Amino acid sequence: MPSITYSPAYTLVPTYECFNRCSYCNFRVDPGQDPWLSLAQARQRLAPLSDAVSEILILSGEVHPHSPRRAAWVQHLYDLGRLALDMGFLPHTNAGPLSRAEMAYLQQVNVSMGLMLEQMTPALQQTVHRHAPSKAPQQRLQQLQWAGELGIPFTTGLLLGIGETEQDWLDTLDAIAQVHQRWGHIQEVILQPHQPGQGQAWAGPAFPAQRLVTAIHLARQRLPADITLQIPPNLVDTDQTLWACLEAGARDLGGISPIDEVNPDYPHPSHQQLAHRLRGGGWPLVPRLPIYPHYDNWVAPALQTAVQTWRHRLSLQETQNPIDVI
Ligand code: SF4
Repeated sequence: MPSITYSPAYTLVPTYECFNRCSYCNFRVDPGQDPWLSLAQARQRLAPLSDAVSEILILSGEVHPHSPRRAAWVQHLYDLGRLALDMGFLPHTNAGPLSRAEMAYLQQVNVSMGLMLEQMTPALQQTVHRHAPSKAPQQRLQQLQWAGELGIPFTTGLLLGIGETEQDWLDTLDAIAQVHQRWGHIQEVILQPHQPGQGQAWAGPAFPAQRLVTAIHLARQRLPADITLQIPPNLVDTDQTLWACLEAGARDLGGISPIDEVNPDYPHPSHQQLAHRLRGGGWPLVPRLPIYPHYDNWVAPALQTAVQTWRHRLSLQETQNPIDVI
């Protein structure tokens, strides 16, 4: 059986404030209502982490592009990335759509970055995204294009079950495939099923397990083979469904941190629990870094040194315990 990967991670949330109001959101608070995470607080949270944690996911709500606080917010994202790097971690930032200059700035302190494309259909701007200007599909696609131009290893994905059609999946997958064919920078695509949470306004149902398996099959057919498919294991309830997703072509389980900040009602399993679930289906679980090996020389020299240190550590762990490492 091929190995299944996950990224031992910890999530820092610079702020939960967000000027969008996606009706399925379980994360946001109103702008100005959430004091930003200070650098001292971030340091306090990172200091006691296990030395197995490689990725710091910097996951932020969005400050409006025209807000007088936008520049301070971007600087804070940078400073958190710098702090994580200085403490020996590998940062990966996902903070919504950014300008090209903002992406280039944050690229200096991130080994990879991400943004869910979600769905390319503009129809959702009349429904779940009616009050979410950042969810304009063309603006999000532009991020993927800029990431390609800038040489940023990138994670994107589809949110499934928010009112789209199967044709919309294909259109979104094709858009990702096209951008990757031009720049080759999409390292993974997440297939994230909608699972209702207690904080959301929209009463949409959970995305059916069988449709997730279908979506993975389609994604595997539609996307270039060098893009890894990722599923969030905390949103897949039974072992049978999890194994069916892997049989359909999913090969990665994403960043596993104590809390899934986007889906707080669905806690992440520990890596031991995950390894146990996978072992039942015969799948070995192995850790990976937030940058895939074929992109190591894309990042700045200082970041390359940090990545190589981690590659060395992972290979030592693999030698000591070849299966279910850590
Ligand atoms: S889903 Fe993201 S963009 Fe939408 S309201 Fe929530 S935090 Fe903001």
